[in-house]
Amino acid sequence: MSKPETPYRKRALGARALSPETLMMSYGFDAKLSEGSIKPPIFQTSTFAFATAEEGAAFFRVMGGRAQAGDPVEAGLLYSRFNNPNMEVLEDRLTLFDGAEDALVFSSGMGAISTVIMAHAHAGDVVLQSTPLYGGTETLIRAILPQYGIRSADFFAGASEAEINEAVDAALKLGRIAVIFCETPTNPTNEVVDLAVMKRLADEIGARQGHRPPVVVDNTILGPIGQSPLAHGADIAVYSLTKYIGGHSDLIGGAAMGASALMAPVRKLRSGMGTNLDPNTCWMLARSLETVSLRMKAAFEGARRVAEYLKGHPKVERVRYLGFLEPGSRDHEVHNRQSGGHHGSTFAFDVAGGQEAAFRMLNALGVLKLAVSLGGTETLICHPGSTTHAGVDEALRERLGFTGGMVRVSVGIENPDDLIADLEQALEQA
Ligand SMILES: *Cc1c(COP(=O)(O)O)cnc(C)c1O
Repeated sequence: MSKPETPYRKRALGARALSPETLMMSYGFDAKLSEGSIKPPIFQTSTFAFATAEEGAAFFRVMGGRAQAGDPVEAGLLYSRFNNPNMEVLEDRLTLFDGAEDALVFSSGMGAISTVIMAHAHAGDVVLQSTPLYGGTETLIRAILPQYGIRSADFFAGASEAEINEAVDAALKLGRIAVIFCETPTNPTNEVVDLAVMKRLADEIGARQGHRPPVVVDNTILGPIGQSPLAHGADIAVYSLTKYIGGHSDLIGGAAMGASALMAPVRKLRSGMGTNLDPNTCWMLARSLETVSLRMKAAFEGARRVAEYLKGHPKVERVRYLGFLEPGSRDHEVHNRQSGGHHGSTFAFDVAGGQEAAFRMLNALGVLKLAVSLGGTETLICHPGSTTHAGVDEALRERLGFTGGMVRVSVGIENPDDLIADLEQALEQA
C-alpha cells in the first residue's frame, strides 16, 4: 500500500515531477490545518481528541491492522507513541530521496536497527551479516540478540562470492535466515558490499528455505545524497539520523524505510517497544532535511579537497578515501555503481609514526574538533583504534588493516582551506 495522494502529498506540478530538494519544503504538511503556518508547528502533545467515539474506534482498528469496510485508509492521530503530525511530516519527507514507499522514525539509529531486526527475526532465526558493521550493531547482533534466541553468521564485507556462499551454508545449519544485514561502504576502512549480490543471495535463500529474507542496508555513511540502497537491491534502508541527515550534531534519531509490507511489522514493534521519536526532534529533523542536499554536497567537496591535500603529505602513509579506490578493482566498480561517484566526507588516514605521532597531531589541532560521531556541519576527528573501534577483535583489525596511526575524519562545511591549514600545522607536530 502506497501513501494515498492528498493535496499535501503532491509530488508533481502538472506533468513535471518535482525533485526531493523542492518537496522538502512542502511535502506531507497542509498549512490549512495549522492556521496557515508556513512551517509545521511543534505538536507538543501526548494525545489527540477524537471527534466521536466511533472515529476513535475506527482509528484504532486501522492502526491495529483490523480495518473494516468504511474505515479511513490511514489511521487518524491517536497518541504520540503511534503517530504525531511532526513524526508523519518527517516520515513522508524521508521517503523522497530514497524512493521508499514508507518510512518510520526512531529514537536513535540503534532504535531503528534493533526494531527492524527484531521485527523480522524471531527466536530460532539467524541474522546473516557482513562484517565489520557499526560497533553498536555488532554488539546487538553478536551479544544481545542471542539472549533472545536469534543467532548470527557473518562474512567479511570484502568477501568473494564463494566465501559468502560458505557463510550462507553455515547460517542455514543454525536455522532460518530471517534477515541479511549489511553496511556499505564500511567505516572507516572502505570495504564494499555488492548489493546486487545480496539481492541474488536473498532470492536463492528464499528458494532454499521457503522464506525470502529482506536485505537491510545501513546507509548512514554516504547518506541519502550519496547512495540509494533501495535502487540497488536492498529491501530496507536504515539510517542514524544523528549523522548527516540531522547534520548539526545536536540530536539523536534513526529511520528505516522500504516497502509498506516490510515496514508494517516494524511499525507494530516500534509501538510495542516504544522506540518512537519525540515531536521536537522530528521538527528539528524536518528542518534539517531542507538543507541536507546542500550540506552533504558541500561536505563531499570539502572532503575531496582535504583528502587530496593529505595524499601528498610526507607524514601521511595512506589516505583511505573512496575517491582513491584502485580503478579497475572490484571495490572501485561496485562502489561507483552503487554511489554514482559520490565519495562521502568521512574517511581515515594513517599518520606515519603510529599512535604516538597520531596523538601529537590530534592534540595540536585548532579548528578540527576531537570527538567521535560524524556527519555534522563541523569537522570531527578521532582515533578509532582507541575509541570507536577499541572493541574490535585483533584478527578482524588485522584484516581491516588497522594501524596505530590511523585517524578518522568527518569533514564538515567549514572553508576547506582553513581545515587544510589546521592539518598542516598539526602534522608538523606529529
Ligand atoms: C552512529 C551510527 C549508528 C547508530 O546511530 P545512533 O543514532 O547513534 O543510535 C548506526 N550505524 C552507523 C553507520 C552509524 O554511524
